[in-house]
Amino acid sequence: MTTALEWNSRARALKPQALAFIDGKYCPAASGRTFDAISPIDGRVAAQVSECDEADVERAVAAARRSFEDGRWAAAAPAHRKKVLVKLAELMAAHGEELALLETVDVGKPIQDSLAVDVAASVRTMAWYGEAIDKVYGEIAPTAANAIGLISREPIGVVGAVVPWNFPLMMACWKIAPALAAGNSVVLKPAEQSPLTAIRLAQLAAEAGIPDGVFNVLPGFGETAGASLGRHPDVDAITFTGSTEVGKLFLRYASESNIKHVSLECGGKSPNIVFADCPDLDAAARAAAEGIFYNQGEVCSAGSRLLVQESIREAFLAKVAAHGRTMAPGDPLDPATRMGAMVTREHMQRVLGFIHEGSAAGARNILGGRQVRQETGGYYIEPTIFADVDPASRLAREEVFGPVLASFTFRSVDEAIAMANDTRYGLGAGVWTSNLDVAHRMSRALRAGSVWVNCYDTGDTTVPFGGYKQSGTGRDKSLHALLKYTQLKTTWIALK
Ligand code: NAD
Repeated sequence: MTTALEWNSRARALKPQALAFIDGKYCPAASGRTFDAISPIDGRVAAQVSECDEADVERAVAAARRSFEDGRWAAAAPAHRKKVLVKLAELMAAHGEELALLETVDVGKPIQDSLAVDVAASVRTMAWYGEAIDKVYGEIAPTAANAIGLISREPIGVVGAVVPWNFPLMMACWKIAPALAAGNSVVLKPAEQSPLTAIRLAQLAAEAGIPDGVFNVLPGFGETAGASLGRHPDVDAITFTGSTEVGKLFLRYASESNIKHVSLECGGKSPNIVFADCPDLDAAARAAAEGIFYNQGEVCSAGSRLLVQESIREAFLAKVAAHGRTMAPGDPLDPATRMGAMVTREHMQRVLGFIHEGSAAGARNILGGRQVRQETGGYYIEPTIFADVDPASRLAREEVFGPVLASFTFRSVDEAIAMANDTRYGLGAGVWTSNLDVAHRMSRALRAGSVWVNCYDTGDTTVPFGGYKQSGTGRDKSLHALLKYTQLKTTWIALK
């Protein structure tokens, strides 16, 4: 296994590609401008990245449109497209360590997670959609004998994908794999905090045989490159993952331009609900800790609200805190580290703001709460747990997106349901109980896109992922996501 020393020396030697990728070639932004990619591990500049804006969006969308209209990808035999995406998955796996290193340097997550989760899941996603391409059939409608109604699925056209920084490669693959599988051409805008793996992926895609113009990558800022993509009249669909506030902007961009299709995966404030009859309190406590501290809490589906039945509260919180203590932040490039750095200094300050506000409002701090490892120059926060949180406070209601757990107490099933659903979000929910009846009742009553019973935040490519309420409007993963990148064509044939 590669050691911390070796990862660190590879990180120091890293010279990431940092140009945009348009029409099959790396190129600088038309303006010539760049921005610094700062590594949150130590605050150093890892690369100077092309800062794309409206002019680059024009170039990339034009290239994508040309590639779509001439059918170089959309009209290629499904068996051929399958081969290319499967090859891309193989290339990603072959370059797995390089991609994992780029991801960790760019966003500060533990190298072991980059390898075992981000890269591994991205490879699986690409291969799964590649394999699916030649297995999706059209339909024939049950018409009267004097007609045939063919229902076929066609690619939408040019798809703009705008993704966040918390799982940069994985979120990108959740979008581009099904979009490309369906035959679309794609323009991907990674988050400004995390452009490096997307830029590298572009070259691997070209190597795998994705034709020029079919997959373009535009690093740049949300307000410029992101908004231009959202407003572009020749972009047929936007697939977005990020905050609810920016998700709403994409709905507005669509309505003010060409009513492009918009699918949104947004934020969450997910409840993890532990009943006193939980079959394994140790497993539940470990999952509760990992559900909020994994990936530094920068997870849309983080179990950021822990609801514990009154009779077990203190004992259970003590167990969660014990697991939390084992996840203290360390060097992200050390394979033993379980929690890394917060993505930027600004984000760390925002999360610390929630912690200070929670304490000031009287919430009981039972673990952590401080910035640590300042000597590294990076941005680290301890795993933090609050009890007795005021349900009306910001800490209880807003997405912190950091390693901060707010815990609450309930008495009955009805009270747990009411508390769990008392949020504008609806991404995920966990339920821990031995009672099958309670598990089913909760699953039906919880307004969330995913309900996990006696586990938290698990699943695989075969099941859809996405939100109710203001957590979003679409689903990633599974065949449902593939179909989202198609539109239905009816061909009605009159028969004599
Ligand atoms: P963000 O909304 O700030 O940014 C997401 C993307 O939108 C980035 O690429 C950014 O450049 C772009 N953007 C920002 N402002 C824009 C604007 N005015 N116009 C157009 N584009 C703009 O989110 P973030 O901080 O990068 O990521 C964290 C958020 O993502 C959290 O809310 C988290 O819950 C959410 N998220 C959701 C899921 C999910 O599947 N539901 C998964 C991961 C993250």
